[in-house]
Amino acid sequence: MSSPLIKVSNLTVSTSDDNRTLVNSVSFEIAPGEAVGVVGESGSGKTLTALSLLGLLPRGVQATAGSISYDGKDLLHTDSETLRSIRGNKIAMIYQDPMTALNPVMRLGAQLIEVIESHEGQSGDATERVLTAFSDVGIPDPKRAYESYPHEFSGGMRQRVMIAMALLLSPELLIADEPTTALDVTIQQQILALVMHERRKRNMSMLWITHDLGVVANLVDRVIVMYAGRIVEVGSVKDVFTNPQHPYTAGLLASLPKASDKNRTRLVSIPGIPPKPWTVGESCAFSARCTRADDQCRTTLPLLRENSSTQAACFHLMGEKR
Ligand code: SF4
Repeated sequence: MSSPLIKVSNLTVSTSDDNRTLVNSVSFEIAPGEAVGVVGESGSGKTLTALSLLGLLPRGVQATAGSISYDGKDLLHTDSETLRSIRGNKIAMIYQDPMTALNPVMRLGAQLIEVIESHEGQSGDATERVLTAFSDVGIPDPKRAYESYPHEFSGGMRQRVMIAMALLLSPELLIADEPTTALDVTIQQQILALVMHERRKRNMSMLWITHDLGVVANLVDRVIVMYAGRIVEVGSVKDVFTNPQHPYTAGLLASLPKASDKNRTRLVSIPGIPPKPWTVGESCAFSARCTRADDQCRTTLPLLRENSSTQAACFHLMGEKR
């Protein structure tokens, strides 16, 4: 791997008042131009990990250990002015709900102009750049969009505006937090295709957060699987999809609809629910749901280790006989 664009080391995120650990010793890198998917159920820590990169953790939650190295700086310990200049400019984010990023009472053109001017000051060609940005993301009438308010657009079109806004300053890394989840399948495919196209055109790095392993199959180079606040498997998209080694990843794959299963009635979901990360202690967090669990799993924390396919945190890999 070339030297990383961003390197997350032992990131730990906890609640501020009672120090409950929500993300535990998470480490990964993203290379320039690489797309990485982070997959996990609700509460796995995937969104908090992404928000840590931007210094946008919600109130009452804080990074309590680790580092996030970007361009010679540790983003966890840099000043707010530096973070603000990196946000949008170098690292941008698109959200599940575009209204998180858009101001409902401001015309769209003015909102994008504001993004340019807040980072670059007054710019004579700002209007032209905004119209080009709207056109690049497939908005049919950029001039009309420029004068419109967010509520005048459909959900899919608002996502396109948010993507235009995120790409406006040509970031090196785009973080996408489930941006297609609320959209119907056809629009979802259009937005995925748009993001893939823009990523390739710009050779931009990407971190795609999702609960749906199927979404990242054609979208990323590498997959990180999170469970109860920890990374449990990492590998190339090909290895994770064809030869998963962690039983949780294997379970997620088994629950994806198969193209051959025309009526899609035989989905197998993993029984049970994930534990709260702070309740796990020295055991495998997946042990209560895992058919391969034994006493070792219930009393010892498995750490990520290399195997013939991926890196997985499991004592009894799928490729090993039980
Ligand atoms: Fe299952 Fe044990 Fe592996 Fe955890 S360590 S995933 S309980 S086999």
